[in-house]
Amino acid sequence: MTFTDLKLTRQFLNAVEDAGYDKPSPIQIKAIPALRSGQDVIGIAQTGTGKTAAFLLPLLQHLKYAQHTEPRALVVAPTKELALQIHAEALKFASYTDLRIQAIYGGIGPKVQIERLQAGCDLIICTPGRFIELYSHGHLATKRIKHLVLDEADRMMDMGFMPQLRQIQEIIPNKRQNMLFSATFPNRVERLADEFLLWPTRIEVTPESTPVATVRQLKLELPNQRTKIAFIEWWITHHLGEKRMLIFARKKEEAESLAKYLQRSFDFEIRTIHSNKGQNSRINAMEDFRSGAVRVLVSTDVASRGIDVPETEMVINASVPRDPHEYVHRIGRTGRAFRNGTALTLNDPAERYALERIEELVGEPLELIEAPESLETFDTPKFERQLQAREIDSELRKRDPNYQGAFHEKKKKGSKGKSTKSGRKSRN
Ligand code: AMP
Repeated sequence: MTFTDLKLTRQFLNAVEDAGYDKPSPIQIKAIPALRSGQDVIGIAQTGTGKTAAFLLPLLQHLKYAQHTEPRALVVAPTKELALQIHAEALKFASYTDLRIQAIYGGIGPKVQIERLQAGCDLIICTPGRFIELYSHGHLATKRIKHLVLDEADRMMDMGFMPQLRQIQEIIPNKRQNMLFSATFPNRVERLADEFLLWPTRIEVTPESTPVATVRQLKLELPNQRTKIAFIEWWITHHLGEKRMLIFARKKEEAESLAKYLQRSFDFEIRTIHSNKGQNSRINAMEDFRSGAVRVLVSTDVASRGIDVPETEMVINASVPRDPHEYVHRIGRTGRAFRNGTALTLNDPAERYALERIEELVGEPLELIEAPESLETFDTPKFERQLQAREIDSELRKRDPNYQGAFHEKKKKGSKGKSTKSGRKSRN
């Protein structure tokens, strides 16, 4: 399948070639024909799948060339950063046309944006608030809008933009083509789709069992939590550079203590995101991570569902998710399909079973790496050793229902096991 097969016209084929795209991505293969034929489309796709080109190419092809002063199409995005990103892509794809594309967003004065609109515009890429503001002051004519795109609809819902979206719906013509893209499809997005779209074609990509192909998947076995933290410190010191890194923990307590330990070693901010944090604090953490103001973010799985920062180059799993789909989700959410990323999973001895299930699901073993020579390792404290033993027991029992288990034996005999002092021990 090529872009020519998708019946893009010459101007867009040239632009796609200039962008260096060899072949269309799955969402592009599915969405472009449906959108070209004028259908309403729901696309369930994460950032990194090529979804932006999937809606922009057919949209620009519908618009064809500059016409009228008033805009004919509208893309709505949750944040200024995303609006700017879409704007940049749109300019790239429209470079062989005379189409006029404007980004309209808050956080700066409206004067320049108003002047640009007055000069004539075919496609607007906006955040909801600023669009309504310019409209209510009479700076925006909506009567010619024939195509509407709602991008990252789940995030717009999370950020409380429903009232603004409803207002937009009221002020643009009813007869139009609608497209809705969302990384997830919870009930509230489904309701939004019901309100906005007519007989939509539903397109879904990235099934949960296929992590993005360009993510290098590594694993490293370390004896305990404290050594894992020491390793993460080492990794940040040697590999973070200007990159952005997401650390996953299983529980919010683990996320908090991890962040607290790491924060002692670095003078830049390390933020956490989990279900105990309020909505605003989570959104702020996301926005700061997205903008690069925060480069290391520690998250739990629950909170990870809202994370969608394509620039994340590194993911460290501080512990192995027990549900293998969660692993794929963590990586799929953050890796960028057409960029390189690294995902490193740290596992303690008890976690190797969960890791095996992951390897089974992804279809190959993760690449094994060695701990650096200089890494400080720590003895495993008694409570952690017991937790690990209990987990190993329960895993072995799952595999063999007749297995009695070391832990079981000890308990029967009333043995408490030997305890050794936990403390620091250097490898070198
Ligand atoms: P998106 O999912 O829209 O955020 O796109 C992710 C990245 O992939 C962007 O940098 C796009 O420019 C790039 N991209 C989109 N489609 C393709 C393609 N067919 N081939 C290669 N790169 C692409």
